[in-house]
Amino acid sequence: METPSPTGHPVYRDMLTTIFEKMSARARETGAINLGQGFPDAQGPADILQAAADALLTRSNQYPPMAGLPELRAAVAAHYAHHQGLDLTSQEVIVTSGATEAIAASLLALIRPGDEVLVLAPLYDAYLPLIERAGGLARVLRLTPPHWRIDRPALEAACTPQTRFLLMNNPVNPTGIALREGELALLADFCVERDLIAICDEVWEHLTFDGVAHRPLMALPGMRDRTVKIGSAGKIFSVTGWKVGWMCAAPPLATLLARAHQFITFSTPPHLQWAVAQGLAQPEDWFAAMRAGYQASRDRLVEGLRAAGYAVNASAATWFVTIDLPASGIAMDDVEFCERIVDEAGVAAIPISAFYPAEPVTHLVRLCFSKADAVLDQAIARLAAFRASLM
Ligand code: GLN
Repeated sequence: METPSPTGHPVYRDMLTTIFEKMSARARETGAINLGQGFPDAQGPADILQAAADALLTRSNQYPPMAGLPELRAAVAAHYAHHQGLDLTSQEVIVTSGATEAIAASLLALIRPGDEVLVLAPLYDAYLPLIERAGGLARVLRLTPPHWRIDRPALEAACTPQTRFLLMNNPVNPTGIALREGELALLADFCVERDLIAICDEVWEHLTFDGVAHRPLMALPGMRDRTVKIGSAGKIFSVTGWKVGWMCAAPPLATLLARAHQFITFSTPPHLQWAVAQGLAQPEDWFAAMRAGYQASRDRLVEGLRAAGYAVNASAATWFVTIDLPASGIAMDDVEFCERIVDEAGVAAIPISAFYPAEPVTHLVRLCFSKADAVLDQAIARLAAFRASLM
């Protein structure tokens, strides 16, 4: 992903463009169906789009307050009280331009030179460069399929006395895992014992399936005041281009986070904030219907690929499923498979190895299912024909 400089800091000159942009660019060039980068192919919910359009025309288009519109900060707090039983106040919510900005702001605000940050691989590719540019050092705990299990000895082995943060994603991109209660308890106990601050990227919190409810690490004993909880409207409302996110933390942390945010983007487009505030207040049914729609898309892709001979791993959350190449009878690694299907089958996907800074898992490929049925069917037909051509 990046070549470390002699000082250990990543050098942007030597970095590659992120895999998500790279595969989307390949799909644009070749006309391939893009099941790579995670985004829906629909417009987004009409009422939310209308709210943004109305706000654009009728409300202020000047700088909103740096920490976000008071209405959105209150809506985020109320939303988490209702859906996740959290007791946040508006002052504990800082609005950002997407979750990636929230992650960057958290790391820039909190890391002191030489601090270590525990991360769990597979991990989103922004984490490491951001940690290192903030002056930190990543301690990577490598998880492996099929269970991606986190256990106490591995956590102990990955940390040193300099480890001050845990940066984690739950539900997990790219595996589609929603962390189990025992693992969350283990992580919470570990953070409390080691006095770690947890930075929780929970952008997939509403994309859970089969009746599984998201459980935020912040809700576990001892975590309320040592957690930064990060969320994103792009995922909740299927509008990934909006880049409206937020970070929630107890006042001493939130004050620092706001100071970092003020010198990154300062504020976020106000019309989008108004629309997200309205969206977050929608009744329970709205979220249930959204989830049911994506669950049906997941099932359609999984069943279609299985019928075509692919071994597809179960996915409890996110917009992604992974296929297992050797178990599908395909003798290629993930990068070769992705390269070949984009050109030969006309389908773009993401190799799981892109989520490992070292010792990658190389036999899994991620496919995004947040697409129209006809698009999924077409992709299934193309991947079926490609697999058949190898046999
Ligand atoms: N989260 C998206 C994904 O995993 C990518 C976001 C991006 O490309 N910045 O596909």
